Amino acid sequence: MINMNLQKKVSEIKGIGPRKSVALHKINIELIEDFLFFYPRDYEDRREMRTILSLRDGITALVKGKLILKVKGRGRLPRKQTLKLFVQDETGAMEVVFFHAGFLEKTLLQNEEYIFYGKVTVNRGKIQMLHPDISKYEPDQEQAILPIYPLTGGISQGEMRKWQRGAMAYLPELEEYLPGNTLERNRLCSIHYAIENIHYPSDRKRLMEAKYRLIFEELLFLQTGLLAIRNKMTAMEKGVRFSSMVPMEEFTTSLPYALTGAQNRVLTEINGDMESGKVMNRLVQGDVGSGKTIIAAAAMYKAVKSGFQAAMMAPTELLARQHFESLKSEFLKYEIKVGFLSGSIPIKEKKDILEQIETGQLDIIIGTHAVIQPGVKFSNLGLVITDEQHRFGVNQRSILSQKGRNPDVLVMTATPIPRTLAVILYGDLDISIIDEMPPGRQQIITRAVKGESRETSYEFVRREVTKGRQAYVVAPLIEDSENLDAKSALGLYDELKDRFSDFSVAFLHGAMKPADKDRIMQRFNEGQIQILISTVVIEVGINVPNATIMLIENAERFGLAQLHQLRGRVGRGKEQSYCILISEGGSELAEERAKIMKSTNDGFLIAEKDLDLRGPGEFFGMRQHGVPELKLADLVRHIKILNTVREEAERILSEDPALAGKEYVKLKEKIDRMFKNAESLNI
Ligand code: ADP
Ligand code: MG
Repeated sequence: MINMNLQKKVSEIKGIGPRKSVALHKINIELIEDFLFFYPRDYEDRREMRTILSLRDGITALVKGKLILKVKGRGRLPRKQTLKLFVQDETGAMEVVFFHAGFLEKTLLQNEEYIFYGKVTVNRGKIQMLHPDISKYEPDQEQAILPIYPLTGGISQGEMRKWQRGAMAYLPELEEYLPGNTLERNRLCSIHYAIENIHYPSDRKRLMEAKYRLIFEELLFLQTGLLAIRNKMTAMEKGVRFSSMVPMEEFTTSLPYALTGAQNRVLTEINGDMESGKVMNRLVQGDVGSGKTIIAAAAMYKAVKSGFQAAMMAPTELLARQHFESLKSEFLKYEIKVGFLSGSIPIKEKKDILEQIETGQLDIIIGTHAVIQPGVKFSNLGLVITDEQHRFGVNQRSILSQKGRNPDVLVMTATPIPRTLAVILYGDLDISIIDEMPPGRQQIITRAVKGESRETSYEFVRREVTKGRQAYVVAPLIEDSENLDAKSALGLYDELKDRFSDFSVAFLHGAMKPADKDRIMQRFNEGQIQILISTVVIEVGINVPNATIMLIENAERFGLAQLHQLRGRVGRGKEQSYCILISEGGSELAEERAKIMKSTNDGFLIAEKDLDLRGPGEFFGMRQHGVPELKLADLVRHIKILNTVREEAERILSEDPALAGKEYVKLKEKIDRMFKNAESLNI
């Protein structure tokens, strides 16, 4: 039965006109059904109203009080003004403060009673509430747990609640989409109970039950989807068996350096996979600079010498181009032909390359995600490698695999992912870790300084550059911005090309034409440019061993993982390298980050600290791993649930791998929708 009602537009609900519809659309509410699945971000416990006298520092409370006085702060625009309210009840008085909210003033009336819900601070007897939720007091107001929804401009909390109530009338129309067995086995509540109680829980216990079910299903869609993609990749009976007559040593022993123990171990693992008949599906994790590229090269060597093609995909044109240049010359003496493919290649040249890929004239193809476009056909693809894997979506990886007949897959990343999580995200992927740096690397010396010390820092840059070294200078913005008080790469370029007029200074940013970017990188690589000013485009993978200085302006604006990646651009050669973090009055968090950066060069340790600082949600922000965004579930906090979910997903897929059975149709729809909305699929 198709259920029409829930699929109707929100304008069916009383009070939602065209203007409100547009606003709702911005938060992805288009159909009545979307309201039901638009969960509160928090709740307001209106079952207990407190007196002002009883308020204590740090609690979140609901207070009824009369608005005695409104005071607007200075500032020309209402939206920049601070608004202070003096509020009283029978027991005492408090102050309510809104920053940048002068516009609220008009909507609030003196001597009216309002309900305030928010966090209380008490400082030397002064009671304050900062940015509370505020609503007019109605005598017959319900004493309940009320939802607090995330809002968008033009919609108030009151409206949102009213409309949600309206949408709730349609709830009986909603059909259960989880299979009965799944509900039973995992003791999950029904979808009706869950939706009802996620919005209007009558007590904590019901809210927990509802949440558990909704978190469970979210993780189930994700896990089942990921496993299904993976199964598609490996279900095909047999993989490629590469020749044991082609030892990787043929290639590695002719390198100008000896591999590290860790590199050798990882190559042995890869070699084992490649010589076995099963499809390789291996993740290589290694900190920036640990030498992943050569691992990829050795694997490609083996593949090609065994008679197959290999493809390698990198997330940016710059990085892909760099891999291409270095591997092309590396492979020259073996008569291995390497081609390059990216979106910016001229049509005619592209046609040639596509043809050479299809006829097998090219042995190795390196590129951006242009490599996975439909027009690219391989003659005999045996090995697929993705570099800086976290930048790609799971689907992009699987599309590349499907271009061969069960090619072996190697993914490389510098972003450490805890093993438990990796297993869940990537299925039964094997993991190799390069936990050793090439010898002779010196620790990068990191200094964190305040803006006042810029002069000294740039004098230091001068000394290094005079010695023949090269420097990166990174700024958070491309151009100066009116709204943001931060350095721009363009502004810095103007400043530094004068200051360093006796050197060659260049400017690089992400929006440049790929050919221009290449030219600049090429010249930097050859040492013709001494100081390269850029935005974070420089972040991934770039390798210029003679560059020894990474100076980061407005370092307070970068996250730890990003700072670490940036710092990884130096310390790649024999010379002592430096990372200088210049911060402009950063927050406590920014200071903490700088301290961590100073204390260690270890990416895995930094990732852990990052987790502590920011909380799991952000670091493991799904987007980092190219996986759909979750609404309620959190991959780290809910790892226990995730384990149960994984078992359930495996059981479901073993019963019905294509989810074609009647009981799975609705589940499959949900999974498809989750993955369809994922950014990772926009290729
Ligand atoms: P990443 O793991 O960040 O991708 P790269 O593969 O770019 O690191 O390697 C960084 C640098 O280290 C390159 O210049 C590479 O040639 C060099 N390198 C890799 N392995 C070794 C080794 N075993 N000994 C010395 N230098 C090495
Ligand atoms: Mg790399």
